Amino acid sequence: MRKKIPVAEPALCGNEKQYVLDCLDTTWISSAGKYLSRFEEEFASFCNAKHAMSCCNGTVAVHLALLALGVGPGDEVIVPTLTFVATANAVTYCGARPIFIDSEPETWNMDVNQVEALITPRTKGVIAVHLYGHPVDMDPLLATARKHGLFVVEDAAEAHGGLYKNRRVGSLADIAVFSFYGNKIVTCGEGGMVVTDDPELARKVRLFKGQGMDPARRYWFPTIGYNYRMTNIEAAIGLAQLEKVDWLLARKREIAEQYAQCLRDVSGVSLQPEKEWARNVYWMNSALLDPSVRSSRDEVMRRLDEAGIETRPFFYPMHTLPMYRESVAGRVLPVAGDVAMRGMNLPSSVLLTAGDVEYVCDNLARAMRADDDRP
Ligand SMILES: *Cc1c(COP(=O)(O)O)cnc(C)c1O
Repeated sequence: MRKKIPVAEPALCGNEKQYVLDCLDTTWISSAGKYLSRFEEEFASFCNAKHAMSCCNGTVAVHLALLALGVGPGDEVIVPTLTFVATANAVTYCGARPIFIDSEPETWNMDVNQVEALITPRTKGVIAVHLYGHPVDMDPLLATARKHGLFVVEDAAEAHGGLYKNRRVGSLADIAVFSFYGNKIVTCGEGGMVVTDDPELARKVRLFKGQGMDPARRYWFPTIGYNYRMTNIEAAIGLAQLEKVDWLLARKREIAEQYAQCLRDVSGVSLQPEKEWARNVYWMNSALLDPSVRSSRDEVMRRLDEAGIETRPFFYPMHTLPMYRESVAGRVLPVAGDVAMRGMNLPSSVLLTAGDVEYVCDNLARAMRADDDRP
């Protein structure tokens, strides 16, 4: 039996080990050190942004961005319902309420045309999530936000290196966040980054992530802060990853092209597209089963698992989770609900071989057809 083909795995084939050993040898293992400052500088330049502040994961990166923007109790923040739970939870951490918005059917990203209808006097801003690597249509979103005086946060945790109209994801709105979890395009093991051009937002993120301590006065805390710092060891891994980000992104694209090629003539399945104004980084190779496929999505996933192929279902829409169910007050979000039940993520590791991708596609085609003869 061949080794299981994973959905994701880190590629630690560069300077990761050498840099981590350097941290140990020099004893710089905590939340200061040269790898932290280098990683922040390099990441800011990668995003074409002025400031990048590291933190301990992507979830707290969203929290820090919202804290810096002044989100607090009673506020509302519009977020896509089809996202990872951290986007919505970070709003809740601030005492604010996430207001869920449906997906548009093509890219499955938030339907920016529905934002205006959800704005109330309590709305403070919008979090745009570049789902599975495809950038959100930012221009109409930014226009609506500007018209109503709202902030826009990019949750780019799944889209390192993505482009919107030739501009880098992370530099498109007021502030952006990234995750470096083990399955993300660039990883530190655990880690996050907040990116912005605004010096005042940058200052506040630094304040909140470092216990709220006044940078000019040791042990003087003008506000309640958090310990949300990254370690030098994590940054060492992140920097080594960033050194080969062009290769990582190129591999992601190659694999997506192979999937598109292999599944071109397989009916009943479609992949996340790439809009003409976007560069999808294909964090995941996301497949949507056609409603006409007789086998259920979960049954297809089970058959792939039996063939040694790991897959992941799409996220459940946030408004269907117990803690957020009430918040939509009976409002239906049909597109996200439908897509979430039919979607699955295929193996997307940069270490996959062309043979692996072919094996996945052959098995996917077979798994979808398995129930066709049933009476
Ligand atoms: C992964 C992810 C996060 C959270 O990142 P962690 O580093 O796992 O805390 C936030 N938002 C989205 C969209 C993500 O995919």
